Formats: sequence, structure tokens, C-alpha cells
Amino acid sequence: MKPDAAPTDVLVIGGGPAGSATAIGLARQGHRVRLLDRAVFPREKACSEYMSPEAVRQLDALGVLATLDAMQGTPLEGTRVTAAGGSRLVGRFALAGGAPFRPTGLALPRRDLDATLLRAAVAAGTEVIEGTRVTALLERNGMIGGVVARAHDGSEQCYPARVVVGADGLGSVVARRAGLHRRGWLARVAFVAHVRDVAGMGMTAEMHVGAAGYVGLNPLGGGLTNVALVVPAEALHQVHGDVAGFFAQQLAAIPGVAGRVSLQRIAREIMVTGPFDAMCRRSVTDGLLLVGDAADFFDPFTGEGICAALTGAALATDTLHEALARPGPIDARRLAPYRAARRRTFLGKWIIERLIGHAMRSPRLFDRAVARLERRGMADTLIGVTGDFLSPWRVLNPVFLTRMVF
Ligand SMILES: Cc1cc2nc3c(=O)[nH]c(=O)nc-3n(C[C@H](O)[C@H](O)[C@H](O)COP(=O)(O)OP(=O)(O)OC[C@H]3O[C@@H](n4cnc5c(N)ncnc54)[C@H](O)[C@@H]3O)c2cc1C
Repeated sequence: MKPDAAPTDVLVIGGGPAGSATAIGLARQGHRVRLLDRAVFPREKACSEYMSPEAVRQLDALGVLATLDAMQGTPLEGTRVTAAGGSRLVGRFALAGGAPFRPTGLALPRRDLDATLLRAAVAAGTEVIEGTRVTALLERNGMIGGVVARAHDGSEQCYPARVVVGADGLGSVVARRAGLHRRGWLARVAFVAHVRDVAGMGMTAEMHVGAAGYVGLNPLGGGLTNVALVVPAEALHQVHGDVAGFFAQQLAAIPGVAGRVSLQRIAREIMVTGPFDAMCRRSVTDGLLLVGDAADFFDPFTGEGICAALTGAALATDTLHEALARPGPIDARRLAPYRAARRRTFLGKWIIERLIGHAMRSPRLFDRAVARLERRGMADTLIGVTGDFLSPWRVLNPVFLTRMVF
């Protein structure tokens, strides 16, 4: 074991959007921030890589939008959803109402997005240590006071801090070690590839719902499409070691996708991730705060996890800045405003995610709802709500819900 690292105010575990954005916010306010990630950036991340105008607004607030806009992404106009029974809707950001930051979202490889955010964290003054995996939490005076981490060369070191931010994603080691992890309601797995020359792609993301799961197609620019298949976790038993064969077979079974994706044109190997059944009991405890997927995983169908990670990071920054300003231990009471702010901010999103998730389990109901939304001109509103720039209560009201189903 190496000698302990010098203590910092904040120790962030994970350099995805949640961790980098929290580090940027706190470092810019003058706090001493260290960030550890097991990966070496740029790194890949299994994700559909779709961002709404609200996520774009948050990226602008973090000061990275000009850099991202200069990359070869796609300014997304909205989403097209096709139900298993064939009904379709198209939701366009520009027609959703409200005041989106701009009329388009953004589709961009996570490799580029996450590396850009991490660079911004370094520029803000964060000490970033890559290739270092957290294995345990340090306990000091009855509360969490840092972590133990192992570097690529196998050496171990303790990193003490006044407060730890667990931003280590789905399956968070920090949440598990703190006893905050619990299983959620989703048990799905995803297979995600980058494929060249997918037929018929425009400036709109596509979601195709099948009998058992769904496929997302998202145009990334430069002729690349992100192809993501999400199926129940039990489906893993059918893979039999042949991921590409399973992927191809599932895509071929979905009418709106069959024949459009050639696995001869794969540009990045198929990444397998899941199961998505992670939640946390509480997002704070003495000396620790969880943010991003470590706190709560949103179903990719409606979830906008990147936007939620950036929103959560902004809430965490506010609470931590206040908490760090006073001397003494940063216990759960001091971090409680973050927990309350998360509940206020995400309650509507949690309800909508569960409603849509349950509706998808009933193909006839889902098909009917999709048809009604399109016919009655309500699809744009739904896309504005799932895109986080319209209030969830625009959908969660008796009038909207009744018109959607009856
Ligand atoms: C199939 C799929 C499709 C998705 N599609 C979309 C989409 O289109 N749009 C969208 O907005 N969201 C989408 N999401 C959700 C989105 O990917 C997440 O919500 C988002 O990445 C959360 O960011 P994060 O920073 O919390 O976690 P992550 O991005 O997962 O970052 C966590 C970081 O922690 C590091 N780490 C993990 N364990 C350790 C450890 N022990 N020690 C040190 N470092 C560690 C990892 O290396 C990683 O860099 C999708 C998710 C999935 C699975």
C-alpha cells in the first residue's frame, strides 16, 4: 500500500457526465477536487448517444458546447416511435412548445462527449487520475472519509476527502459499499453497436418497439448510426456465446429495422451492458453523495440519462458548495437539501418512466396510445416532456392521459 494521497475537499469517483459536471461546478467555485476513474479516456460507453435540447443547454452552461458543436455530431430534430402493431408517432423538439434552448438536440459518440467534459474538469482545476479503480470506502470518525483505489500497476492507495461523490454509474461500487444500492424495477440488458450506412436515416432518432424489447437507431453523423437493442435480462440465455448472431436475429424480427442494418458494416464492436436494475435507497449518507446512474438509472426509452446526470450534478454542486463552506463533518443532514432537490426535480420523470415502461408491456395498449398521440397532435408535447424542457405535469394530468388512451 502506498502512503495516503494528500486530502482534498471533494473526491469524485467516475468521470462520466455526472462526475465531470460535478467536478467542473465545484472546482470552478474554488474547492479542491480530485476525480478517479478506472478507465483511461477517451473511452467507449454503451449508450444510444441521444441528447435533447435541454441536455444541450446544460452542456452550454458547462462551457463545452462550442467544442462539441465543432465535432461531427447530428443536430437531432426529434424522435420517431413505431409500436409493435405498426402505429407511429413523430415528436419534434421545435414544435413541442415551451422554450427549448434550441430547436435541435444532439447525437454524438460518448467517447467524444465524455472526454470533452473530463478535459473541462481538468481545465477548471480538478486533479484527474485515470486507470484507477475504487475497491473500498474509507471510514473516518464513523463516516465515509475517502476511498481505497487500485491503479493499473496493481498498487493500492487511500484517497482521503471531506466528502465523496459516487458518480461511478450503473452498478456503482460506491453505492454498494455504502449499503445504499438496491435492485430497481427494470431488469433489461442492452446490445449497442455503431453501424455504417443504415438505410433511411435522417435527422431524427428512431425507436422501434418489438414483442419483447425495442431497438433505437440514432444518427451520429459521418454516416454512422448508433444501433441499440434493449431486451429483458432473461434473453441473455439465448445468446449462447454468439452476440453478433443474437443481435442480428433480434434486429431482423423488428419490421421497421429488418433489412436496414448490415452487420458487415459494424464500425464499433457490439457492447453488452446491464441488467438495468439499479437504484439507491438514499442518494446521501454521512460523507457521501451519489449522482447520475449511481443514484438512479433511467430506462433509455424515456430516460435521457445524460441530461439527468447533468441536472443531478448541478443540484449536487449547489448542496456541496454550501456544505463545504462550513467547517466540520459533512454528514447526511448537511447533504439533505440535495436529496430533497432530487425528489422535487425528478418525481415527474420517475412517474412517466414507469407509466411508459408498464404500457410497453401491453403491446395493444402501447400501440393504441402511440396512434392516439400522433392523430391528436400530442406527440410533440410528449417529446418535449421526455426531453426535459417541458414540465412532466403537461403529460401527467387527467386530460392528456385520457386523450392518449381513449
Ligand atoms: C443501452 C443504453 C442506452 C442509453 N441511451 C441513452 C441516450 O440515448 N441518451 C441519454 O441521455 N442517456 C442514455 N443512457 C443513459 C446514460 O448512458 C447514463 O444515464 C449516463 O451515462 C450516466 O452518466 P454517469 O456519469 O452517471 O455514469 P457513466 O457515464 O456510466 O460514468 C461512470 C464512470 O465511472 C467509472 N467507474 C465505474 N466504476 C468505477 C470504479 N470502481 N472506480 C473508478 N471509476 C469507476 C466508469 O469508468 C465511468 O467512466 C443509456 C444507457 C444505456 C445502458
